[in-house]
This record gives sequence, C-alpha cells and structure tokens, in this order.
Amino acid sequence: MTQDVVIVGAGQAGGELAVQLRYQGYAGDITLIGDEPNLPYKRSRLSSSYLAGTHRPQQLLIHPKSRYDSLKIGVMKGAQVMSIDRQAKRITFAMGSSLPYDKLVLATGAYPRPLSLQETAAPNVYSLRTMHSVNQLRAKLQPGQRIAIIGGSYAALEAAAVANQAGLAVTVIDAMPGLLTTVTGEFIADYLTKLHRSNGVDIRLGVEVAGLKHHETNTTLILSDGSRLEADLVVVDLEQVANTQLAEESGIECDNGILTDNDAVTSDPDILAIGGCARASDARYDSHSRRESRPNAIEEAKAVAAAICGKAYSNQAIPVFCLEQFGTRLQTVGIWQTCDETVVRGQPGSNQFTVFYLRDSQVIAADCVNEPDGTVLAKQLIRSHVKVSAKQLADERIEVTKLAQSAA
Ligand SMILES: Cc1cc2nc3c(=O)[nH]c(=O)nc-3n(C[C@H](O)[C@H](O)[C@H](O)COP(=O)(O)OP(=O)(O)OC[C@H]3O[C@@H](n4cnc5c(N)ncnc54)[C@H](O)[C@@H]3O)c2cc1C
Repeated sequence: MTQDVVIVGAGQAGGELAVQLRYQGYAGDITLIGDEPNLPYKRSRLSSSYLAGTHRPQQLLIHPKSRYDSLKIGVMKGAQVMSIDRQAKRITFAMGSSLPYDKLVLATGAYPRPLSLQETAAPNVYSLRTMHSVNQLRAKLQPGQRIAIIGGSYAALEAAAVANQAGLAVTVIDAMPGLLTTVTGEFIADYLTKLHRSNGVDIRLGVEVAGLKHHETNTTLILSDGSRLEADLVVVDLEQVANTQLAEESGIECDNGILTDNDAVTSDPDILAIGGCARASDARYDSHSRRESRPNAIEEAKAVAAAICGKAYSNQAIPVFCLEQFGTRLQTVGIWQTCDETVVRGQPGSNQFTVFYLRDSQVIAADCVNEPDGTVLAKQLIRSHVKVSAKQLADERIEVTKLAQSAA
C-alpha cells in the first residue's frame, strides 16, 4: 500500500525531506505545505549574504521549482495549517479545507520571541526571520542611517556586521550581561563582542528596551537604564522559540520543542517532527536537545526519509553551526552546554584558534575560529570518545588526529 506523506512547514527541513523521500524511492503522494509565499529557502543566509545583497532570491532556494515538479511533489505555498485531527488523520487549513495523511511530518521551525511591548509594529521595525522582511530591510540599508538591533543572537550579530560594513551606525542591545550566553561559552562570546566593538559596533549589555516611540521617520528606544537611543531602523531578533503551536493544540507532547525519540517520532507514532521545531532525544548527550542549524535540518530530513522508506539510516551527525562576520568564520561543532572544562588551542590574538569543550575529559564540542580543518578534526575527537588532558589538547605540537587515534 502506498501511503500519503504530508509535510507541514516548507523550510530547510521540510523542503529537504520532500526531495529526499523521492531520492530514497518513496512512491506515494508527497505534499509539502508552507505558509510563506516562497519555495523552501536557506533561511541561514538571510542575516548575512542575503542582507548584504550578494545573493539573489533564486540563489537562496534549496531546490528549484523544476525539481519539485519532476519529482511529483505537491507544493502548497501561502497555506497555513491550523489544526490536526489525529483520530481522523486530517489536517485543516486556515481557508477551511482539509487534507488526509498517513504520515504527517511537522517541520514548522522556530520564530524569534516577540518584544513584550505594545508599540512594536511600525514600518521601520524589521525581523530577520523571513525573506519578505529582510527584503524590506535591505532596501533601507543606506550609509549614515542608524540601526538598533534588539537581541544579540548569532543572526543579529551577522546582521550587525553587514549593516556596519554598509556604513550604518549600529547599536546592539541585549538584556543579558553578556552576549550569546545560552548558545556558546564565555570565551567565544567575549571574542565576538570584542570583534564587533573593535569594528565600531556599539554593544549595550544588561539593558532592556522598555519602550519604543515612533516618529515620522525614526524611532526613539527608551532603555531600562534610563537612556534613550535614536534609530532610523529597528531590528528585533530575540531568542528563537520552537513553533509548537499546532502540535500542542493537538495534544502531542511538547516541552520547549516537539519532543521526539531519536528517530524523530513524536508521542503520536504517525506524526514526526524535524528541524527547529523539534526537541529530539540524543543518547550521545544524554538529553533532549533543540538543534537549530541548517546542517542539522538536512541531516534529520535524510534520516526521516530513510525511515519512512523502510531503510536503515543512523543519524549520527554531530550538530554543526557556521557563521561569518567581519571576515571571521566561526564553526560550532557538537553541543557544549554540559561541559565541565574549556580548553583553548591556538592563538586567539592571531584570530585562528579552537575552543574545545570537555566533559569527563572527553571532547563533546568545539568552536573553531578561522580553522579550515577545524570541524573535521573536532568531529574526529568527539566521535573517538578518547580521554584527553587539557594540557595535551592545548599543546599544538600534538596533532589532533593523533589524539583521536589514541582511543584505539
Ligand atoms: C536570520 C537567521 C540566520 C540563521 N543563520 C544560520 C547559520 O548561519 N547557520 C545555520 O546553520 N543556521 C542558521 N540559522 C538557523 C537555520 O536557518 C534553521 O535552523 C533552519 O532554517 C531550520 O529549518 P526548519 O525547516 O526547521 O525551519 P524553517 O526554515 O524556519 O522553516 C519552517 C517553515 O514552516 C512554516 N510554518 C510554520 N508553521 C506553519 C503552519 N502552521 N502552516 C504552514 N507553514 C508553517 C514557517 O513559516 C517556515 O516557512 C539561521 C536562522 C535565522 C532565522
């Protein structure tokens, strides 16, 4: 019997899954549903090359239209799914119609937490989340303009670097006493803060935006320390929240993400969840984790396509996240949060180094700055489970590959 797979969310994970299903031999109907007007695109480029204007919309597409057509994948754009009837195995659209499924995959992604202020909406307030919003912002990036970015995420910092290099006066405001406190260790956070400040970005930490006053062409930001900041453009990019609404309303287990097992199956065996909306179980890290990155969305899509096609595929991929700002390339490998030790290898002053994160003397993650082979070597160490001392790891005379091999 052929089954119908319905994918809700036409982003990085959903778009990749639809195509991978066909590549792996799936013969049933595939319907990919997204509420944006575009085909699935690389959201990860929005705050960097796309905002900078070096990529055109077509170049951001994950797959061209012709590929969905030739693989007979039904793509519904601008269609929002409002509810799931799990008993009847049907989804309902905002416009009232409904669609049956045999297997439903939720790939609804994440969205930035909105500012808890009344006055957020104004023509000069932008988000970095959609191509539509970034199109509007990039048309306004003119030298001499003042831009205030609320939230100091990786994406916000990428946008800050683009705006700075386009000749704008940039201020980043973050309520925490340090940048990136939940996404990376202190060393890298400090390094990036200094990198931005040395390039002229004004970073204000430990202050919240208490109010926004919009004028005809600009906005006054009232900060919690009593100061005021004038800006022509405002970007809001607070922390990413998993888009779990559909799942929660249909009674699927969620806790800061749609909870899944290691095979992406939710608490309903016919409903799976992948990408930024999911919080998957991971035995390697002994926990459920949200892995919000492009490589992770692709890897999960491949794994789920194989599982639906009844093929073996073990998702052993180690999460990777890459970003670039002011010519500095940072590649984050693994999940650092449970580390009990941090080791710096290389010379931070030369802008080429790696920060390793260890737990029980085993490397569990690394941040590689301008290290071309960094991710490969870090993955070798993580996979090897070898016990290393901080002294060995910091010693550049000992090759990382040798350390990884010493596990055998
Ligand atoms: C500005 C920015 C910069 C980033 N930079 C990087 C980077 O440098 N490196 C990196 O690895 N990652 C980066 N990321 C993260 C990366 O883009 C995400 O991890 C990835 O896009 C997740 O893919 P996804 O398919 O799960 O979600 P998304 O790509 O967000 O797609 C989800 C889609 O589902 C749609 N949707 C939601 N609910 C419904 C519904 N009810 N009905 C229909 N459609 C729905 C959404 O509108 C969206 O189109 C960045 C993210 C952002 C926002």
